[in-house]
Amino acid sequence: MNRLINKEALSLEITTHCNLSCPHCFALANITALADMNWNIAQAAMKEGYTLGYRNLHITGGEPFLNKKLFALLDKACNLGYEKIIINTNATLLDTRNCSRLSEFQGRVDLTCSLNGNEKVHDQIRGKGSFLKALKGINKALQKGINVDIFTTVGKYNLEDIPSFVEYIMKSLSGIQGIFFIQLRRVENEYFSFADQLLSPKDVINFVRVVGFLSLYGYPVHFLENALFNVIAKKLELKWLPASQAIFRPDRLFILQDGRITANHSSRKTYGFYQPGSLQNIINSQMYQEDILANTTLCPDCQFYQLCQSCGMLQPSCAERNDLECASPFCQRVLRELH
Ligand code: SF4
Ligand code: SF4
Repeated sequence: MNRLINKEALSLEITTHCNLSCPHCFALANITALADMNWNIAQAAMKEGYTLGYRNLHITGGEPFLNKKLFALLDKACNLGYEKIIINTNATLLDTRNCSRLSEFQGRVDLTCSLNGNEKVHDQIRGKGSFLKALKGINKALQKGINVDIFTTVGKYNLEDIPSFVEYIMKSLSGIQGIFFIQLRRVENEYFSFADQLLSPKDVINFVRVVGFLSLYGYPVHFLENALFNVIAKKLELKWLPASQAIFRPDRLFILQDGRITANHSSRKTYGFYQPGSLQNIINSQMYQEDILANTTLCPDCQFYQLCQSCGMLQPSCAERNDLECASPFCQRVLRELH
């Protein structure tokens, strides 16, 4: 008998259509077609996920509000019994109609909205006018009582703006739950290289320091899925900083629009295509377990092993994400800077 999954979310990429074309987008750099997820796959996966014990559902894209079946899917998920549904959106389609419909779910549907920094930076990446459009949409959602978190990817281009950005968001988006920072990463098959914008080990340490101080002053700031930042925070003695989850972690499954299954959205490693009954088999598979459990080759011989283990950093940083050209893993180089 398998144990029930009750903390992790099952993730569905319900469309690869998007009304924006951000150059750093890892979702659209990995697509086989511009299309919505097959409705039968979405329904079967939600049902199977619920039976396995998932109670949280994560909906992403592309831009999920472009999928005409989004609300039917939310109805279905609620009828199945999912307790919390989180939708990633670029917020530009949060009009009165969509926000009113979301509010009918009475707190079961939350939003995470992507902003790339202040207006200038955001519009440079996402297109002129997209910042104010997103802000307007987020405010509409907040006014309807919908919980909203902000997701912000950080590279060299916006590292220095973090304090002013946080202050601005807290003033202009009253009622926001939190701001989650994401370290800019590369992906295989990226269609635009951001190599010169990747944070260096020194940048990453400054990043944690800045966010640590914002957190000390009461701002609801977090790091999204980056256990290395827990290790840095420990070394810097920023004890109050909320812990970040690891990006590869038990029970995390992501079903992409075309049915391929991965452990997280930016991963290029797939565990095959979804077929009814396949989720538990994937979780139990050796390949999946090796990806989510503690690394047994590089880490045990590393000088930071105990420290990393105590902070939930169980696998080295993926070379292809941080530093394609460098021989030693990014995590080691960051921690050596602090040693
Ligand atoms: S809005 Fe999101 S899904 Fe659309 S292109 Fe930008 S990063 Fe990709
Ligand atoms: S290789 Fe990286 S994750 Fe592993 S112990 Fe060393 S610093 Fe930590």
